[in-house]
Amino acid sequence: MAENLERLKQRIPLLEYLQRHNWKPCRTGIRQEFVGLCPLHPETRPSFYVNAAKNLFYCHGCGRGGDLIRFVQFFLDLPFHQTVALLEQELTAAPVFRLLEETAGFYQFQLHRHPEAIRYLEQRGLHDPALIEEMGIGYAPGGNLRRHLAALGYSFDLLLGSGLISSQGRDAFCHRVIFPCRQNGQIVNLYGRSIGAAFPHRLLPRSKGGLFAWESVSSFSIVILVEGLFDLAVLWQAGFRNTTCGIGTQLTPAQLAQLADQPGRSIYIVFDQDENQAGQKASHQLARRLEDADIAARIVHLPHGHDPNSYFVGGATATDFTGCLERAQQL
Ligand SMILES: [Zn+2]
Repeated sequence: MAENLERLKQRIPLLEYLQRHNWKPCRTGIRQEFVGLCPLHPETRPSFYVNAAKNLFYCHGCGRGGDLIRFVQFFLDLPFHQTVALLEQELTAAPVFRLLEETAGFYQFQLHRHPEAIRYLEQRGLHDPALIEEMGIGYAPGGNLRRHLAALGYSFDLLLGSGLISSQGRDAFCHRVIFPCRQNGQIVNLYGRSIGAAFPHRLLPRSKGGLFAWESVSSFSIVILVEGLFDLAVLWQAGFRNTTCGIGTQLTPAQLAQLADQPGRSIYIVFDQDENQAGQKASHQLARRLEDADIAARIVHLPHGHDPNSYFVGGATATDFTGCLERAQQL
């Protein structure tokens, strides 16, 4: 029993578990030590310490401390045996999530070794290194992921099942800028934008997850919704932090529920102004679905032929965009 528990704690590192549940750690300056707000009670000054090497936590605010199992007991208010059963369950689903984390980290590292990728980000108007880091943007040069993951002990079947590798053993993402898509802090999919001639958009064959970075947007009473991650990135960069992205114009029921989870919220829809009116039609459909859910929706019109990304790349400023928001129409 004790041996099993040790193995469980090793396989779900406490820091990783906390981060998966939205805990935001800062380094303390002491090796492997992190501090942040205590997830076990409301507080404004961080007093929750984690020692990643020892796999232990201690909170100076509430005086609680211990290992992963102890934390989950407090966090979910569960008895010991139920906590262990829950963590064991989580472990069977964990390999794919860990694989995606590992892959996203690897691609992030590659970004800075490939000037063509940085150049592409600059072309798309993205130049703030802090934002690139915050969004976890990476680059898949192609041809080196499989070897990296195999060296870490991931099986070919798992790589194949995740969609990261084709049945011929080739990397799914090649010459693509990568954005990790998170839900509840956990990476559920990767979006790859081709920087070459290949089809522009690619997602792994998994759920695309919720709205991008919804945790950081959900407290706003006005939310801007865009189609693409580059639209989102330039808007965040321009200071519109209340922007989220559904990756495409067709929202999943889960994404729609997120938009509607607070009464009194207004959604500003800023989809592409397509030649064939596809974006405009999708905006109207979505606005209607939101109105049905008692959420006020406005449709934002950008100058002809633009999406938010091309609008900013073309020289628009935050003031220009605010003007567009102010002119937005209700259905
Ligand atoms: Zn505490």
